[in-house]
Amino acid sequence: MLPRMMPLKAAFRGVLDLLLPPLCACCGQSVAAPGQLCAACYQQITFIAEPRCRRCGVPFATVAEAGPTRICQVCTARPPLWHQARAALLYDAAAKSLILPLKHDDRGELVGVLGLHMHRAGAALLARAELLVPVPLHRRRLLQRRFNQAALLAHELGRRARLPVLADGLQRTHATGSLGFSSAAERAHALQGAIAARPARRPGLAGRRILLIDDVLTSGATANACARALLDAGASNVDVLVASRVPHPRRSGEERSAAEPDADDEDD
Ligand SMILES: [Zn+2]
Ligand SMILES: [Zn+2]
Repeated sequence: MLPRMMPLKAAFRGVLDLLLPPLCACCGQSVAAPGQLCAACYQQITFIAEPRCRRCGVPFATVAEAGPTRICQVCTARPPLWHQARAALLYDAAAKSLILPLKHDDRGELVGVLGLHMHRAGAALLARAELLVPVPLHRRRLLQRRFNQAALLAHELGRRARLPVLADGLQRTHATGSLGFSSAAERAHALQGAIAARPARRPGLAGRRILLIDDVLTSGATANACARALLDAGASNVDVLVASRVPHPRRSGEERSAAEPDADDEDD
């Protein structure tokens, strides 16, 4: 009796899915349309807006802090190889609740939500890009997770902005392990030579304006290593668009620990 009931039960569930209201991708409360966040979750999120660094997109607290150049101290001291980076959200507890499940589970609706806000935050970068390339995962990580969250975001943005995606344009030549708690210099050292353009893809990268896609920007070391590989392959420009970015460390220890990324958040 039971086996005969199963198809009926599955069909019933399908009908229920159609009848039930769409749910907030973050907390599961009902919302007006699929892919939306509820008002409470939306309010928790810190969207990055002006004033922000012209190069790396880090938000400034005030216009006075931004100064006349609107370039932050980090970019002034060590200019990145990429031209401009933009992030949709500040990497805080609310952003983590959207991004961490994306890394460890197959949560397609979160890709839609993040893609929507990345499309908005990166409009100028998307307008001048010819090709989207995700930050690569090492093959061993890819086998563990089955998917690369940066590639999922790149495909979502490619669909929204009608741009081609070269999902395997870059490759990790060796695993760097988790760099979650490393300093900027340690990350940069660990990543030296760890990312390269895939030889067969080099002709497709040469002369192109490329937008690099990732989920989280921490120190920028991974994005810089990717930019170096893309420029080596002949890319004419590299910009970076991420779902979320960590603010630069501040003087106050409390603020710093609140913004400190979890191990495994980037560069893996
Ligand atoms: Zn919610
Ligand atoms: Zn900057």
